[in-house]
Amino acid sequence: YIMSKKIIAGNWKQNGNMKSSIQLAQDIIREVKKNNIKHEVIIFPPSLYLLPIKNINKKEIINLGSQNVSAYNDGALTGEISATMLKDSKIKYCLVGHSERRHILNENDLSLCEKVSRLHENNIRVIYCIGETLKEYKTKKTKYILNKQLRSLFENLNNSKRPNRVIIAYEPVWAIGTGLVPSAKELSITFDYIHNTVRRYNKSSKPIKLLYGGSVSPDNAESLMETQYIDGLLIGGASLIAKKFIDICSTI
Ligand code: PEP
Repeated sequence: YIMSKKIIAGNWKQNGNMKSSIQLAQDIIREVKKNNIKHEVIIFPPSLYLLPIKNINKKEIINLGSQNVSAYNDGALTGEISATMLKDSKIKYCLVGHSERRHILNENDLSLCEKVSRLHENNIRVIYCIGETLKEYKTKKTKYILNKQLRSLFENLNNSKRPNRVIIAYEPVWAIGTGLVPSAKELSITFDYIHNTVRRYNKSSKPIKLLYGGSVSPDNAESLMETQYIDGLLIGGASLIAKKFIDICSTI
C-alpha cells in the first residue's frame, strides 16, 4: 500500500513581475529539493510567467498550473488562452471555479463546465474550487451550495467522454484572504459532507482528492490537515512568500 501524496498548491493570483516570479519559483524549487519534500507541489503563477518558470523547472521538481483557461476552442476570442495552448506548453494543471472568478469576474456553472471539458479534452488536470459566501454561511446554506456546485460539476464529468483527473478544493469564500478559518468541528462536518456527496455523484472509479483553501498559514496548516478527507491545501497569500509556503509543506 503506497500512501497517496498530499497536494500543496500555491495560487499567486495577479501578483508579481517577471523578476519576482522567477525568484519566487527558484526559491521554492530549491527548498523543495533541499528539504526533501515528498508532497506534490503545484504553483499557479500569472500566465505570462509560466514558460520562464517552466524553463527553470526542467527536472520537474514542482508542477505548474494555469490560473485560468478559455471555455472555447481556438479561434476569434481576443485575450483568451486555450486549453490546447496550455497542453502545447506542457502545463499540467488548471484552476477552475475560483471564487474570485465566480464572484468578481462573473463566471457561472455553465462556463466553468465548458472550461473543465476543454481541459479534459487536452489532458490537463483540474483543480475545481467550490465554497459558500459569508451570507450563505451565515444563513446555513453551506451544504445546499456545495451540493449545487458539485452536482453541476459531476453532471458534466459523468457526460464527458474523456473524464480526467479532477481535484476538488473547498474554499469558504469568507475564509479567503481574511485570516478566518472554519473551526475543526465545522471542517469535519463539511468535509464529511463533501466526501459523501462526491461519492454519490462520482460515476468513475477514480478516487477524487479534496483540498482545503482559505487563510492557510504555517501556523494552522498542520491542524487543518488533521481533518478527515483533507488530502492537501490550496494557498493564496502565504504562497507568495517562499519561506511560508515551504514551512507549510514541511509541517504537514
Ligand atoms: C485562495 O484564493 O485560493 C486562497 C486560499 O487565498 P488565501 O490563502 O490568501 O486565503
